[in-house]
Amino acid sequence: MADHAFNIQLQSSWQRELAQSFTSPQALADYLQLPADWVTAHESARSLFPMRVPKPFAALMEPGNTQDPLLLQVLPQSDEFAQVPGYSTDPLDEKNASQIPGLLHKYKSRVLVIFRGGCAVNCRYCFRRHFPYQEHHISKSDLDHMCDYIAQHPDINEVILSGGDPLMASDAHVVDALHRFTALAQIRRVRIHTRLPVVIPQRLTSDLGDALSSLPVPVTMVLHINHAHEVSTELSDFVAQWRQRGIHFLNQSVLLKAINDSLDAQIALHEAVFRAGILPYYLHQLDPVSGAAHFAVDDAKALKLHQQMQSQLPGFLVPTLVRELAGEPNKTPLR
Ligand code: SF4
Repeated sequence: MADHAFNIQLQSSWQRELAQSFTSPQALADYLQLPADWVTAHESARSLFPMRVPKPFAALMEPGNTQDPLLLQVLPQSDEFAQVPGYSTDPLDEKNASQIPGLLHKYKSRVLVIFRGGCAVNCRYCFRRHFPYQEHHISKSDLDHMCDYIAQHPDINEVILSGGDPLMASDAHVVDALHRFTALAQIRRVRIHTRLPVVIPQRLTSDLGDALSSLPVPVTMVLHINHAHEVSTELSDFVAQWRQRGIHFLNQSVLLKAINDSLDAQIALHEAVFRAGILPYYLHQLDPVSGAAHFAVDDAKALKLHQQMQSQLPGFLVPTLVRELAGEPNKTPLR
């Protein structure tokens, strides 16, 4: 994570929360009253990927519970040192999918913009945990080049802001970029892939909601929520306010061992996101990134779980179970 992301002028409550995030396992352990020796045994894994956990997210964890499903997603673990065949630093071969700095054109009709390196929370299973974000710092001239590239590829009709987390950028930066992209007549919709509102709900500011709702195309927020406990009252309230402005919400999650790989956990998750006004979209099989093998759920178990979900939930609450394969023109449903 680039430190420059945190050398920001503190302007709003979400930025203050960001600046006060836990970056040390020991500090988080103290806050959650976890056994000090248990945390110390795992602490060295910070060297592989820094720890970052905003307080509003930590507040959703159960004090004293070393197996809390939110804690396990963000606390460095000694398992991350395991070298497992088939796991690599760039499992989706993204370094070779970048046409111009910051732009990934993996799918015919849409482009992914690595809009902002770094995230508010560092998820230990992240497939971009080794991504060279410092090579993807977006400047105004980069945005001009992206618009030129899109104009030269008329099949592109959608722009997806991703990262890192695109909402780490200021409101002005996000809105300026989206105004540029949506000024191209070929762009029919935009998406923002973000986990920031889940860990700091105040990020869904009124000003940003107003600005996004005035764009000439529909805006869809694709949140990343893995467990029902992540759906806080604050998040639900902000989502409701943004939905009143006509902004759509979807959720994608990652199937994670010991976190959400039971039928009860999956049903609770999708019921909770729906109650919050968010529709389930994708359930991803883990991308095989080095350091995350201990989160993997095998395909047979994933498929069985998905079948059970289909028998227990209405179809619109069952996300599509997918895997992303390097070089494939779309996500691959598991069958
Ligand atoms: S928020 Fe998303 S991109 Fe950021 S660390 Fe978590 S999974 Fe990775």
